[in-house]
Amino acid sequence: MRVGGIASYQCEVTSRMELLEALSWAQTHKVPVKMIGGGSNIIWRDEGFPGLLIINKILRFELFNEDELNSYITVGAGEPWDSVVARSVQAGLTGIEALSLIPGSAGATPIQNVGAYGQDISQTLTTIEAFDIQAHDFVTIPALDCGFGYRTSRFKTTDAGRFFITGITLHLYHQNPQPPFYPALATYLRDNAITDVTPAAVRQAVIAIRSSKLPDPATAANTGSFFANPIVSEGQLIQLEADHGEVPHWKTEEGVKLSGAWLIEQVGLKGFHDPATGMAVWDTQALVLINEHTESTAALLSFKQMIVDKVAEKFGITLVQEPELLP
Ligand SMILES: Cc1cc2nc3c(=O)[nH]c(=O)nc-3n(C[C@H](O)[C@H](O)[C@H](O)COP(=O)(O)OP(=O)(O)OC[C@H]3O[C@@H](n4cnc5c(N)ncnc54)[C@H](O)[C@@H]3O)c2cc1C
Repeated sequence: MRVGGIASYQCEVTSRMELLEALSWAQTHKVPVKMIGGGSNIIWRDEGFPGLLIINKILRFELFNEDELNSYITVGAGEPWDSVVARSVQAGLTGIEALSLIPGSAGATPIQNVGAYGQDISQTLTTIEAFDIQAHDFVTIPALDCGFGYRTSRFKTTDAGRFFITGITLHLYHQNPQPPFYPALATYLRDNAITDVTPAAVRQAVIAIRSSKLPDPATAANTGSFFANPIVSEGQLIQLEADHGEVPHWKTEEGVKLSGAWLIEQVGLKGFHDPATGMAVWDTQALVLINEHTESTAALLSFKQMIVDKVAEKFGITLVQEPELLP
């Protein structure tokens, strides 16, 4: 978002040894530590971070073909995520191709269980390798122990800040992606007469869809979706539809998912530019907020609160911020 204060100290680590050195330095100097990857899902407070920011640059990409169908890739946490997707797709593997073009690092993907177009990282992740500051040792965490949910995990909730992820292993398959496809993806494949649905075809489709809808963070400061899509009960959906007519929704294992973008559009804020805060709602995807000329995180947060309040007033639903507010 290009707002917020500065960190007192910063370093990059390219190996597990360098990570241990950085942690030991922070302990000696009695300063808090925070590990980040690309910084694409963080809003920094105006006060800044009075500690050591460790930027994960640990690189590694190992592909192990178990048999004709099953493959495993082990990647360093500092690998740029989209490059991991590109290499797995190039190897003809399915499992993460719908997660194309998501900014950031591989090591950050388990934190909020990144997902898009029907896939999320919990579906393919087998293990995480991390330094556990409680155990003072490197540990291997199986996927079942990660507490994954929709845009969440134990790393974002109960164990936030405890694990410094150094690598992840994913289980991918040597086959074509299997239908049913996510609605926007299915529409794109149909409209473009794509019948040979290979991992590469899905990656290309997702890149085309995302590029047409989402702003490029290089030119428009944004964090992708600013809010998670709300999840409500069947009973709440019935009440909402009684009050407001048809409400777009998807049934998921966790409940009924509503479109946050639709809710924001219904309160008249899609494409809204606010001269007072310098913030705007993106005109082709209302979940995305843009910093046009905001000078402070405080202004950004007041713009966000205005959206949350308007949606709550009309629908009784509280939108939850997706990017983390730090420190
Ligand atoms: C344009 C745009 C589109 C986006 N689209 C999507 C999308 O479709 N789906 C989606 O799920 N997300 C999306 N995002 C959000 C973001 O890309 C992901 O959350 C991504 O995983 C963040 O990676 P990062 O390396 O930048 O993490 P950062 O922002 O650096 O960190 C995010 C959190 O993870 C922690 N963290 C990062 N690396 C490590 C590590 N190695 N060990 C321990 N903790 C770590 C940080 O401390 C912080 O708490 C989008 C963002 C943008 C800007």
